[in-house]
Amino acid sequence: MDSGTNHDADTGTGGGRGRPIDFSVDTLGPCTVESPLAPRLNARRTTHHYVQPTDRVLFDDTLSKIERREGPVAELPALEPCGPREKIFFDPSKTRVGIVTCGGLCPGINNVIRGLVSELSTHYGVRRIYGFRNGYQGFIPRYGHDVVDLTPESVEGIDAEGGTILGSSRGQQDVGEIADCLERMGISILFVVGGDGTMRGAQKISAELRERGQKTAVVCVPKTIDNDIPFIDQSFGFQTAFSEATRSIRSAKVEARTAPNGVSVVKLMGRHSGFIACYAALAQNDADYVLIPEVPFQLDGPHGFLADLRSRVKEQGHAVVVVAEGAGQELFEADEARDASGNKRLQDVGPLLRQRITDDFAEHGLELNFRYIDPSYVIRSVPANPYDAVYCIRLAHAAVHAAMAGRTNMVVGRWRRRFVHIPIAMAVSSRNQVDPNGDLWWSVLEATGQPWSFGDVDSPQVQVFGGQ
Ligand code: ATP
Ligand code: MG
Repeated sequence: MDSGTNHDADTGTGGGRGRPIDFSVDTLGPCTVESPLAPRLNARRTTHHYVQPTDRVLFDDTLSKIERREGPVAELPALEPCGPREKIFFDPSKTRVGIVTCGGLCPGINNVIRGLVSELSTHYGVRRIYGFRNGYQGFIPRYGHDVVDLTPESVEGIDAEGGTILGSSRGQQDVGEIADCLERMGISILFVVGGDGTMRGAQKISAELRERGQKTAVVCVPKTIDNDIPFIDQSFGFQTAFSEATRSIRSAKVEARTAPNGVSVVKLMGRHSGFIACYAALAQNDADYVLIPEVPFQLDGPHGFLADLRSRVKEQGHAVVVVAEGAGQELFEADEARDASGNKRLQDVGPLLRQRITDDFAEHGLELNFRYIDPSYVIRSVPANPYDAVYCIRLAHAAVHAAMAGRTNMVVGRWRRRFVHIPIAMAVSSRNQVDPNGDLWWSVLEATGQPWSFGDVDSPQVQVFGGQ
């Protein structure tokens, strides 16, 4: 899927306008061990599959942006490509690997686990791979979670199921205790599958291990169903999620149009970024409104959402509203409640819309047949579709190559269709959001026919650091 929007990497994160951003990835040391992949990769006397040490993937995709950056080509912002290296850092026969999955569910986590295990064991010959149970809790002795031996046989077929075979959790854990556990078990590589919070945790684990002089690679496979991680084209599971969400929109349409003044509201995932709502609404072109966190809206007043909805229902007899869970937070009183991991708790926009739409139709003496559909947990737990399955296994392969080559404190991702290494610091530096002035939101407005905004609300400036 192409992005085609304004990625402006001068701002926000790696330094001031015009200065190159530092995409350099930490390494544990020089690579001196011959890769066990060498005989296979050299079989046809080609070095084509190896990544050369100096190869880089350009960050910018537009000539005008490149021209704006001053300085030599070698200083253009660029990312290290993923892939096998001819020489690696770890000796596979002496390498113990850990895998942990944290945060909320997302289609494709099991595919990533299976991909990691099979690449490590079948191709690199790593024989000791341990799965830590229930997120970061798995490292902490007082929880008493068993460690799981992972082999190609034990992970066979796990990708047919959603969820994660290792379990997951939220909640802060002590980084010192996690590092103690890794040290005690002699883990040289830790693969971490999780979202922004998990990656922040991984960054701290990596720093703690470095401080202790431990040569342990910490490599993340970023997981976010919301597609909100910056500097990657798309996150795994996102395509499955919005495809699955289309079913709810289809049902919402059927329900709405088969009752007088039918109004269906579908609440989809998207805490801070409305990508699932936008893509699902475009894929199943039945929504009359899409409400996302990036575009604040008013309910009341002549140009508010309720007045527009009323007139749409009068005109066509029914309406379908798709709302991202984080939309409309500006309609609530401020609330500082946090979840176990310290994330701000969102107020629930679904019931608010239900109440306000019901009251509004009653006030205007209009019949209303209201339906509310919230498929979030159904969507999160499905297995990855074939596209995401391919993406997951390729991310897993990329993560293994990176870790075996001693890269650390990094995540793997795809940028402009190339698999690349991204420092964790960059991956957690901002959030990828729908650009209200970009072409994705424009497509949504065209598809729904809704006005650019409801009421007198300005959209905040959104910085776009990833795929739209
Ligand atoms: P998602 O939000 O996509 O479900 P996430 O990885 O952001 O995934 P969280 O529950 O926020 O999910 O975090 C997962 C784990 O990472 C939790 O154990 C949490 O305590 C830990 N974590 C979150 N933020 C930090 C942080 N700043 N430092 C250390 N650990 C963190
Ligand atoms: Mg998160």
